[in-house]
Amino acid sequence: AVRVHALNKVFGNHAVLNGLSLSIGQGEFVALLGRSGSGKSTFLRVLGALDGQVTGQIRVPARRAIVFQEPRLFPWQRVMRNVTVGLPQTRSTREQALGALSEVGLDRHAQAWPRTLSGGEAQRAALARALVRDPQLLLLDEPFGALDALTRLRMHVLLRNLYERHRPAVLLVTHDVDEAILLADRVLVLTDGRISFDEPVSIDDPVRRNSPRFDALRASL
Ligand code: ATP
Ligand code: MG
Repeated sequence: AVRVHALNKVFGNHAVLNGLSLSIGQGEFVALLGRSGSGKSTFLRVLGALDGQVTGQIRVPARRAIVFQEPRLFPWQRVMRNVTVGLPQTRSTREQALGALSEVGLDRHAQAWPRTLSGGEAQRAALARALVRDPQLLLLDEPFGALDALTRLRMHVLLRNLYERHRPAVLLVTHDVDEAILLADRVLVLTDGRISFDEPVSIDDPVRRNSPRFDALRASL
């Protein structure tokens, strides 16, 4: 789903991405860790093509959707319009949007204003906005960072269920090693502009989860 080769992204004289190479298979769920300022958000923006000035090779699928740490809903539009923003306003779009809203448990809030939603609800609306685009690649930039522990836990279950149903490739940026190991099938670390750690995880195998490899990973962050 994603093929990146020798990617460079420079801000001024600071090479944030520096020869980064990475492949992500179709339907693979990958978590990306890395210290603050290591370039995770920059990389996601490049893949989302919101930031074009790079060198190197990038192949990404046409349908990709990005969810940010904050929901970024338009406050002057109701939830339904936020979910369908940029899409043709047809009946079938609205039906798909209602489907996506009900998948994230927000169908009753379709006509609500964003300011009336809780943080978790707003983030679920952002997830519905991504889902309705039927993404082949779902880019998630610390989407649960601002939520309380219980809501985050619920969002983990929701995200994993949505993933199992739709099977997009997922690239989830997180600060949380445990979240990465819990949700993803493969864990990456970004250091000095490249992927410095790349290991599979199996959520069915707790022994692997506690493997010393991940102690090294924890120590590196
Ligand atoms: P965090 O975990 O804190 O979100 P991050 O890994 O997402 O960090 P980025 O936001 O990608 O890090 O930033 C990587 C580096 O690029 C930082 O040093 C940042 O200051 C720099 N940077 C990001 N955007 C710009 C910009 N528009 N102009 C100049 N420098 C930038
Ligand atoms: Mg970031």
